[in-house]
Amino acid sequence: MAEQEASGLQVLLSTLQSSGDKDVILNILSVLTDLLSLGTGRRIQYVISKGGSEALLQALTTTARTEPLDHSILLPLLRLLARVGQRDRKFGLKVQKAEATDTILSLARRNLCHHLHLTHCLWVLRVCASNVTTGTTLGINGAMELLFKVITPYSKRHIRTVRAAIEALAALLKSKSNSRRAVSRGFLGGLLRLYQDWHRNDVSNNYVYIRRGLLLCLKHITNIQLGRETFLCSKGMEILFTSVQDCLSCKNLDPIINTVTQILRKCYPKEPLPVATVRSSYSFPLPGNTKAEPPCEGSEGDYESDGEEEAEKDLDSEEEESKEEDYDLETDVNKLRSKAVLDRPEEELGQYEAMCPELSHNFQELETESEEKKSLEDRTENLLSAPSHSIPNATSVKHPNYRLRNQSVTEMGPDPGEKDFKVPLQSWTKKEICRWDQTDEKRDIAETAQEADSCEDPARNHVLILRPLPKDPAWYKKTFYPECEALINSIAGESLDYSDIVTNLLEKHQGDIPFHSPRFYIARAKCVKSIPDYKDLAFPDFWGHQPPPYSKPMLERKYGVQRDKVLDDVRRLIQPGDVIGRTVFDLDEPSHSSPGAPGCLTFFSKFESGNLRKAIQVREFEYDLIMNADVNSNQQHQWFYFEVRGMKLAVPYRFNIINCEKFNSQFNYGMQLVMYSVKEALQGRPRWLRAGHDICYYKNHYRCSAAAGRGVKGNFYYTLTFNIKFPHKDDVCYLAYHYPYTYSTMMSHLDILERNRNPKKVYWRQQTLCQTLGGNLCPLLTITAMPESKKREDLEQFCNRPYVFLVARVHPGESNASWVMKGTLEFLVSNDPIADLLRKCFIFKIVPMLNPDGVINGNHRCSLSGDDLNRQWLTPNSQLHPTIYHAKGLLYYLRSIGRAPLVFCDYHGHSQRKNVFLYGCSIKETLWQAGCTVDTAVITEDVGYRTLPKILDKVAPAFVMNSCSFLVEKSRESTARVVVWKEMGVLRSYTMESTYCGCSHGLYKKLQQQQPRD
Ligand SMILES: [Zn+2]
Repeated sequence: MAEQEASGLQVLLSTLQSSGDKDVILNILSVLTDLLSLGTGRRIQYVISKGGSEALLQALTTTARTEPLDHSILLPLLRLLARVGQRDRKFGLKVQKAEATDTILSLARRNLCHHLHLTHCLWVLRVCASNVTTGTTLGINGAMELLFKVITPYSKRHIRTVRAAIEALAALLKSKSNSRRAVSRGFLGGLLRLYQDWHRNDVSNNYVYIRRGLLLCLKHITNIQLGRETFLCSKGMEILFTSVQDCLSCKNLDPIINTVTQILRKCYPKEPLPVATVRSSYSFPLPGNTKAEPPCEGSEGDYESDGEEEAEKDLDSEEEESKEEDYDLETDVNKLRSKAVLDRPEEELGQYEAMCPELSHNFQELETESEEKKSLEDRTENLLSAPSHSIPNATSVKHPNYRLRNQSVTEMGPDPGEKDFKVPLQSWTKKEICRWDQTDEKRDIAETAQEADSCEDPARNHVLILRPLPKDPAWYKKTFYPECEALINSIAGESLDYSDIVTNLLEKHQGDIPFHSPRFYIARAKCVKSIPDYKDLAFPDFWGHQPPPYSKPMLERKYGVQRDKVLDDVRRLIQPGDVIGRTVFDLDEPSHSSPGAPGCLTFFSKFESGNLRKAIQVREFEYDLIMNADVNSNQQHQWFYFEVRGMKLAVPYRFNIINCEKFNSQFNYGMQLVMYSVKEALQGRPRWLRAGHDICYYKNHYRCSAAAGRGVKGNFYYTLTFNIKFPHKDDVCYLAYHYPYTYSTMMSHLDILERNRNPKKVYWRQQTLCQTLGGNLCPLLTITAMPESKKREDLEQFCNRPYVFLVARVHPGESNASWVMKGTLEFLVSNDPIADLLRKCFIFKIVPMLNPDGVINGNHRCSLSGDDLNRQWLTPNSQLHPTIYHAKGLLYYLRSIGRAPLVFCDYHGHSQRKNVFLYGCSIKETLWQAGCTVDTAVITEDVGYRTLPKILDKVAPAFVMNSCSFLVEKSRESTARVVVWKEMGVLRSYTMESTYCGCSHGLYKKLQQQQPRD
């Protein structure tokens, strides 16, 4: 049957090409018209595959040669060609082959006065131009001049012809050579005038398609630099910006508004960022001239890139995991096989023995010492010294894992789990149960402070103070909670001593923030070595914070929000009158900033993890913000954390962070930033809350010079914009990319954990893995269960427990990794029976922060050397990457004594995706995915790497198995996951990614990730 059909069609097509008989041809055309007008696109494809385009083109050239022209044949033929040409991707080429471009053009010329015939010709012209080469040929042969004769100012006559001409012109202008030709012939100005005319006269919006067609012509012409320049000179920005204002209220005009917005964005003159240099404000001299000089920045003026043709991507393709990934897969089996190599002399491994005290510990003192507290001096050296406070039982605290997955969380109301978790938290605050008492605390503070002093270089010794709060006594009167009456009275006097405020604040601190103590925080923060030599503490880090009472749903994206923001940006150019342009904060030139200008916000960020570089007041309530680059680098802008004060009440402030670099962001998919209000905190609500509305993220007009941008990708900057209404007038607020977690937070958290574990059950040892480049200590923890008894078999069991090796926060901007690590640690030392079992089964070796310097100095991705530490695992440099070098050394040591870990996991945060998931390593899955044939007889692989993710998928509501991947990419060959898998032979070697945003599945679906509840 199909054969017959095929032969039938082929007979028709070949007859069409060869027959000279008019009736036969008309009949065939009529049959073909019927065939194609019914049915689907598949039918057209079928005709194309049987040579339909060629046959029709042949018939066209033959008919066009016959004088006089026979329009009864030509019209159906042209209609068929337009129809087939639309679907035939090779149509342009076929037109060239059939040498039909001239035929079509001359047909159009001859029919200039006959609109019906002309329209048919234009339809075909349009499909021919969809091929760039054919389009260019048509352009050279005068097609655009012809079309400009047809496109008229506003008129209701011959609308179909005008429309066909505009659409053909738009198709022709996709060719850059045609665009250049059009600009040099002055067509761009003509198009603008035509657009203005149609816009002005089409008051009832009957001809939106004509107006949009003209805009598409402009859009294509402005893909070339000459086009953009001419557009600017022709006042294109003003014309389109002004005209689009009339359209904004009418939803039917979206196609027009969107196209205008795209053109305006593209043509907005490109500028370098308003900073003297894009290199970080902070630089760090590296030991042993190992690194080349930083790349010099390119000269001015190379910010334009010609032919920048952007497909305006719609926001529906959130997970842009490109197919290109496959090319990145490692397909060399030898490289995929585990290899026990060593990147250093074997003798060096001996030093790591000291980091495994659990393997040589003598538990002689076990019985005697567990009964009494040890003396304070050797507290850190002994296991049983800390006061015996127990950590709250985590079964009640850590509810999610124990919930059924189909249980739901009320989106706006309190979490049903809240009751469960409040109980232990309250009990936590009861001194008699588990809170260290005042004297203990004071003693501990003194000790911690001593430790802090001792670890410090005296020359660098500095006084660290809390960021000053407003000195107006009324501020305190209004903000303090009633219990603080005494404080108000004491500080309401004329002379307000700053240190008194802090002392009073500390006295009034309710101390109900689990695992946080402001005093511990200060003590630890004093030890921190930062490049800018921080003098200030950010209030939230010092005071602490609690989770909000309920999870917040993801932000519903407001219709047209991006377009509104972009138009508002363009308004700066068109109506410069209300642009202030005043620098109000400048890290590089403190004298240039004008803080306290009337009606203006004050910014600050010189504190741990802070990274604001510059703030410019654009309009009364709008600020452009620039983040600092990573130390010794000129890029990696994503993380932000800064303080703002002096706000008015109920005014939406617009903030634009204008030097983001990622091409897309979860801020486009419901994520909000986080905000902390000091007034709220002092009123008893110390919380980081998801905040901001009208949030969106888009490419802006700032460009990084090619040299400074290290290639094409770095050339663009993106704007994260959001509006915020602050909760109080004249408040002090903090804004951040994600819940901050500083180095001092971690150190003080470890102090508290150590003091509050149950020493009879929990073996806890905190050592120093190494010192960082910046001179900070990188802690290493060992957690396991104390041996059951002194009996030999118990001690043996203790020593022989397999290792689990966990690391986090190699990327400083991924503070969520630290929150996950915080939860891990609290769970591991808790009384939860599962935690107890885990301790009895495993020895946990944990490096909770692999990049302390990066975290301290507000980096997003790198260390002080300007390197991404998670790309250094293959050959870490002991001087430049000490934390990686020694973490790897410890792993080598464990391998050398036959104790390579059972599981290795590196905690990260993922900025583009939702949920929590793992990346692991599998030879077979990698080869399969790459399309390689896998000889299963040669490669045997234990599938144990899938067990842990499968378990997590069952018990952890935020975890999604489908997002996991076990592929080994070439570009990841120097990551912790791949190197530990390959060199240490750890089958279960993972990167764990946690979203910054929230979950798309399960119990937490559509909720934003909130600050974890311990
Ligand atoms: Zn990461």
